[in-house]
Amino acid sequence: MSLRLEKLRARKVYNSRGEETIEVDAWVDGALGRAAAPAGKSKGGKEVMYYPEGGVDESLRIINGELAARLKGLDVSDHEALDEALKKYDGTVDFRRLGGNAAFAISLAVAIAASNAAGKQLYEHLRIVDSFRLPYPLGNVIGGGAHAGRGAPDWQEMLVSPIGARNVEDAVKANFMVHARVGKLLDKHLGGFTLGKGDEGAYAPPIKTEDGLRLLKQAADEISDELGFKIRVGADVAASSLWNPKKRRYVYPTEGVELDREAQMSRVAEWIDKYELFYVEDPLEEDDMEGFADLCRQVGEKALICGDDLIVTNPEILSRAAELKAVRAVIIKPNQVGLLTTAMKSVKIAHENGIISVVSHRSGEPPEGHLAQLAVAWGGKLLKAGVVGGERVAKANELLRISEIVGLDKMAELKI
Ligand code: PEP
Ligand code: MG
Repeated sequence: MSLRLEKLRARKVYNSRGEETIEVDAWVDGALGRAAAPAGKSKGGKEVMYYPEGGVDESLRIINGELAARLKGLDVSDHEALDEALKKYDGTVDFRRLGGNAAFAISLAVAIAASNAAGKQLYEHLRIVDSFRLPYPLGNVIGGGAHAGRGAPDWQEMLVSPIGARNVEDAVKANFMVHARVGKLLDKHLGGFTLGKGDEGAYAPPIKTEDGLRLLKQAADEISDELGFKIRVGADVAASSLWNPKKRRYVYPTEGVELDREAQMSRVAEWIDKYELFYVEDPLEEDDMEGFADLCRQVGEKALICGDDLIVTNPEILSRAAELKAVRAVIIKPNQVGLLTTAMKSVKIAHENGIISVVSHRSGEPPEGHLAQLAVAWGGKLLKAGVVGGERVAKANELLRISEIVGLDKMAELKI
């Protein structure tokens, strides 16, 4: 069955941080698909360029003019055809002509329109898995680094995931309960706390990273006991934000310490043991793939070492990381590479190499839930989408809707 792209229209809207972003409407056989692009703040150095010179306005000019006319009539029943056309039109390695975020919004809007036209869910239209499973939500509860102001923890994200939950309703609820409990514990610890939050709805308290990990672990253990299943704690160090290349040190401004590479690795390994972290993302700066491999060897089965800025969803970089055994999990953020099919290539490489894919939001998000559909389509065992805030809850709510079709208890197999 062929599906014809009839019309594209792009506009400027705003993300959760109030930054300009691009939204695309696509019509396929009379059905509408709409999607907007997210934006990172602690971006990997090898991500594509979000917009050409001239910003969002230039991307709008291109799409609403020449590109929409050029793509009109394209058969988009196979999504690859659209993404190939976008790649060819842009013609650069980093999407600097069209803008990676423009490409992403078109790619996703057309996929949604095509699935609507075919009467399917997006996860069915973009599926690469044989059977559908629901990812465990992985959410940011205490935050700092680039996502918060001065005085917040130096590590960017302290995360929670209910990996022992038997169904998605319990899983989603558990993360909300842990978030609420941490608010109370912070209030007690600080002798009064405003409950102020950073970019992703995580609390941004004036505390050191280690105090945050301790409080989060306490909250996770308490809620775990109340609900009767395992809830684990993890972190996104976002170590490139701490790395000072001149000093060759990881600089912790809130804590007031500077660590060399070895000390950084020892700290990560020590805190994995002390706080039973099951997941650590970007423990080292993004150019130290050998260091990731060393850490993976050292940590073994105890925790998933995950690459975000290290890999930026790029299939070639991921293949190298797989060869070196540098990661056990990889962050999949489609707008790091611009196209859904490029992200899908990375997911396939990950799964061929036994690497867990973690489908992830950005710190600046549109308030929509499509990411949950992508996680189910691609067999992501974790969906990293924050806990609270409308744009974060949208993903959890979409997961609940999907569970009505897939089955409430069809959770991913996540053995750690
Ligand atoms: C991250 O580092 O995982 C993240 C979500 O941050 P950003 O979107 O700012 O890159
Ligand atoms: Mg990250």
